[in-house]
Amino acid sequence: MSDAIDLATRLRAIQAAQGREPFDVLLTGGKVVDVATLELREADIGLIGPMIASVHPPGTLKAARQTVDIGGRCVAPGFIDGHVHFESSHMLPHNYASVVVPQGTTTIFCDPHELANVLGVAGVRYAVEASRGLPLRFIVQASSCVPAAPGLEMSGADFQAKEINELLGMPEVAGLAEVMDMKAVLDASPRMIGILTEALKSGKIIEGHARGLKGPALQAYLSAGISADHEITSAEDAIEKLRAGMTVEIRGSHDYLLPDIVAALNKLPVIPTSLTICTDDVFPDILVGRGGINDVLRRLIRYGLDPLQAIRCATINNAIRLRRDDLGQVVAGRRADLLILSDLREVAVEAVYANGRRVAENGRMLEAPKAALALPPVRTMKVGPLGADDFRVRIPGMTGGRAVVRTIRGARFTSWGEREVEVRNGFAVVPEDANVMTVVHRHGRSNRGPQTAIIEDWDHWRGAYASSYSHDSHNLVVYGSDPAEMALAANRVIEMGGGNCVVKDGKIT
Ligand code: FE
Ligand code: FE
Ligand code: FE
Repeated sequence: MSDAIDLATRLRAIQAAQGREPFDVLLTGGKVVDVATLELREADIGLIGPMIASVHPPGTLKAARQTVDIGGRCVAPGFIDGHVHFESSHMLPHNYASVVVPQGTTTIFCDPHELANVLGVAGVRYAVEASRGLPLRFIVQASSCVPAAPGLEMSGADFQAKEINELLGMPEVAGLAEVMDMKAVLDASPRMIGILTEALKSGKIIEGHARGLKGPALQAYLSAGISADHEITSAEDAIEKLRAGMTVEIRGSHDYLLPDIVAALNKLPVIPTSLTICTDDVFPDILVGRGGINDVLRRLIRYGLDPLQAIRCATINNAIRLRRDDLGQVVAGRRADLLILSDLREVAVEAVYANGRRVAENGRMLEAPKAALALPPVRTMKVGPLGADDFRVRIPGMTGGRAVVRTIRGARFTSWGEREVEVRNGFAVVPEDANVMTVVHRHGRSNRGPQTAIIEDWDHWRGAYASSYSHDSHNLVVYGSDPAEMALAANRVIEMGGGNCVVKDGKIT
């Protein structure tokens, strides 16, 4: 769906393009980053309201209400982020916009699945409502995997075909979000087939998450109707997926992969239009300190991708993917989302126009985006206070002696371990070199109490940490070794209505 430009504006643009009426804004003396031909060419750009009315040879049309001299700088289309969960910035939509718009991002294709996993359909609705009227265009997706790992962890909602149908029925929702339950797709599980059938029926885009899929599994995943991936694991993987016809969304999270990917792309006779750029999950310190799409582009260019080609991936290629003929190019008829760049290789964004209005300069918004009328959701911590015993590993049927327990080894990539422990008063004594992790269901949908296990290979540390921010189910997760410290941290997060808490030497820091 395209947020249409009204007829009166179009009629004025038709006149202005022929010099019969002045432009609202005329940008002169700049070089257009032509993302179709990959040329950099001198042209003036005339704007009418939110749209570009004309891109013409310098000096040929001069009448304008306001003329801005670009002074030899480059004018590029606003960047489009092809796949992002803005919640990872820990910011509300208007604050998120205030950070990424000055970096050059004017449109995001966002999957609010962290919101959806906590709040269900209301979470997606909130993303739609809270992003209205911002200088950043939110194109929202229907979160496909709520919960992300059915049968393993319970989140705050359970999306079936019915919920997906409801979300895809909203005009602001432009597609089904990353289908990350790859196994359910390959097994053709009835729930997943139901969800995919709704998406196919809607005619909207179906986004993928095809981590590690290749050969027959990749072909099967595509056959299900899913057509994009942002989980690239190697240059080989990127090329196989491009050849398979997938939209490949390059993200910046695994920097070490990028040089190889760029080298492989540069060997192709042509870089396909199906190569796009995204940020996925970027945490606030990185987003503010290093950037989002601008940072991914800067690194790709440093690793050898041609700057115009890189910008093409983040603009017209994403617009093609999103089926948005009104975005992604500095040409007449499209939205006036424009960037003034002082240095292409450094992706140095000097000023940003969104919908024809100058909204940011030198890394800052000219006016802070206003918070939406839609209120942020509250009271999502649906769990009562916890006791120290909730953070102990209970050994059923034993009060003393020794027992062998299962442990969880590793952090990001985990495996089962085994450990002989001392049993005291019915609980395992946690070995000196190990710690404890507890997951507490916080959505009020299950009576199962806290689940506690011994964790190994996490180095040596003490204290406790509790967080309700835990992808993708956002249950309350607590780490530590002293049960009293863990309870203190957990109860503080519950009292706060969610968040993070660190306890050191028995005190909240
Ligand atoms: Fe993913
Ligand atoms: Fe993602
Ligand atoms: Fe997530």
